[in-house]
Amino acid sequence: MAGFAVTDELEARTGLAMSDFRFYSVSHSIEPNAHSLGGHSIGLTGAFITLCEGDELTEDQVLAAITHEVGHHAGGALRFSAVLTWLALPYWTTAFLVREAVEWKPWLRLALPAALAAAGVVLLLHGSTLVRVAVILAVVALIAVPVLAGAWSQREEFSADEYAVDHDCGPGLRSYLRQFEHLDVAAHEVGDTAG
Ligand SMILES: [Zn+2]
Repeated sequence: MAGFAVTDELEARTGLAMSDFRFYSVSHSIEPNAHSLGGHSIGLTGAFITLCEGDELTEDQVLAAITHEVGHHAGGALRFSAVLTWLALPYWTTAFLVREAVEWKPWLRLALPAALAAAGVVLLLHGSTLVRVAVILAVVALIAVPVLAGAWSQREEFSADEYAVDHDCGPGLRSYLRQFEHLDVAAHEVGDTAG
């Protein structure tokens, strides 16, 4: 880390004991980023740590990025997010398998949806009531899950940014987001009027 007492400064700004948090390095990501995980855990990507060690991030930027993550925990909504993730797990698993299949055989990009749609139509026409309901629920989930998950995570990002701004990290957060705008680190810009 850059040569300053990150922990002391974080405690001063947030009023929370950093010993309650666990920091991990998440090596597999090439984006300089930080993540909030369950159980008061905060993951810092290898790229983020490299930037810190190379003094390519200012003290304010590092503090802002981590305070944003602390904000995810402080809101208490992380537990609800975890529940949502579990509920949507069948959806994300299927989406992952479809992506992998398409990467493996590119022609599946058209064939797979066509086959699924055909199967859906056949089941709707000839299946039992239970099967029909299941097909309809699957179609609803296909549309609703990504939309709801996107809306929820954007809401969470806004409130974590708000937390950082409320805890003296406004300028650091803005310059951090500006520097990594092209990487889509955050879902939005923090308004320049925010303190
Ligand atoms: Zn966040």
